[in-house]
Amino acid sequence: MSKYEAVIGLEVHVELKTNTKLYCGCSTAFGKEPNTQVCPVCLGLPGSTGVLNRKAVELATKAGLALNCEIETYTWFDRKNYYYPDLPKGYQISQVFRPIAHNGYLDIEVDGRNKRIHIRRAHLEEDPGKLTHSGSSITTSHSSCVDYNRSGIPLIEIVSEPEISSGAEAKAYLEKLKAILEYAGVSDVKMEQGSLRCDANVSVRPLGTSTLGTKTEIKNMNSFRAVERAIEYEIERQIEVLEDGGEIIQETRGWDENKGITVAMRNKENPDYRCFMDQEIAHIELTPEWIEGVRATLPELPDARRKRLIEEHGLPAYDAEIITSSLDLAEFFDAVYAEFPDAKTISNWIMGELLRLLNARNMELFEAKVTPKYFAKLLELIKKGTISNKIGKEVFEQMFETGQDPERIVKDKGLVQISDEGQLASILTEVIAKNPKSVADFQSGKEQALGFLVGQVMKATKGQANPGLVNSMLRKMLSQNNSG
Ligand SMILES: [Zn+2]
Repeated sequence: MSKYEAVIGLEVHVELKTNTKLYCGCSTAFGKEPNTQVCPVCLGLPGSTGVLNRKAVELATKAGLALNCEIETYTWFDRKNYYYPDLPKGYQISQVFRPIAHNGYLDIEVDGRNKRIHIRRAHLEEDPGKLTHSGSSITTSHSSCVDYNRSGIPLIEIVSEPEISSGAEAKAYLEKLKAILEYAGVSDVKMEQGSLRCDANVSVRPLGTSTLGTKTEIKNMNSFRAVERAIEYEIERQIEVLEDGGEIIQETRGWDENKGITVAMRNKENPDYRCFMDQEIAHIELTPEWIEGVRATLPELPDARRKRLIEEHGLPAYDAEIITSSLDLAEFFDAVYAEFPDAKTISNWIMGELLRLLNARNMELFEAKVTPKYFAKLLELIKKGTISNKIGKEVFEQMFETGQDPERIVKDKGLVQISDEGQLASILTEVIAKNPKSVADFQSGKEQALGFLVGQVMKATKGQANPGLVNSMLRKMLSQNNSG
């Protein structure tokens, strides 16, 4: 057992789903030509002032409420002053002194254990621009390009209390946070497009002590799995330094995905941003009625949906957790259920076939062509015995690729299950005649010999025979043979 424990806090930047920026009307669309979505306000040209985006305040409030936070009725923006080419005004508009939301929580489950992680604060701020260096890093580049399309896009920064103790807990926290924000409709939460970014503060201390150790801040992680790995690596690194009698240096470290290590980026001792209230832009006053109005627009959130799937549909907790982990999947489940109300069969097919194919092809659900309606129809065909479970999987793969009607696929390919006793009898007679040893084995009491014979029939019919019927018919025919 380790003599140390890790103390981890996460800072997550989430891009709010607005059409326009925080203080101007420029578009927030992703992936456009550099510097085509800019204006004097988001370029920070002298003398330009903007107007606060009401939708951004509404979405930040909604995010805070979804995370069980208290919402401030009176707040304002501050200037966080620093110089960097991605920040043309020379300061960032942020909420340093009074965040719009504070004191919330979310619940996670790791290895069957539940844990509540508290959220210290969630505040509104604007995104800086994006720098691209011509070389592999800023220190070896001859030049850098800056794109201000992102400059001024509204973000919320969600800061957890340092209550996370492992990489696995950090990953579970991020997955839950992503699901909640996605359900609430406040963000696209796409890490690969930069609409969700995460930094981790990591320190270790001897077990049983309460003083915090010196922390490092880990950056450059581009997936939840990377966050988990980077934290696990950093914990081990810090313990090793301490065990060797060294000291942890407070610094920012970057995660190197290929090498699987963190490397020192720059020292960051007491950064002084000289923050002060922005006197040029209006303060924000929210009435309790307005806040309650936003609360009323909150949809069912992941925990409630998970509970509903367990209590109303009788799904195992494990199935419910997987299905509610993404809004798309949960809605897909509900849509299939509306046509085919057998929850466990649906979840078996979602977790087995649907997720297997999505993972194998590295796809998202919305990219797959299969519709809930045809998904339900396929399950119905299997239930009615028109096709076997095994054939069903083949049909599903084709539906997944083409979006075709399963009934049409079954018809075109002649896959209908053979449930006609007369048609099966001749095949069974043939299989019995060809396998006298297995027949004798079964008749002398070896049950498993029957399984072999069923397998031979399935093979002869290319999987189309109804296995239950084949089983019972074989039993009947073999016992008659025996007595006769
Ligand atoms: Zn603009």
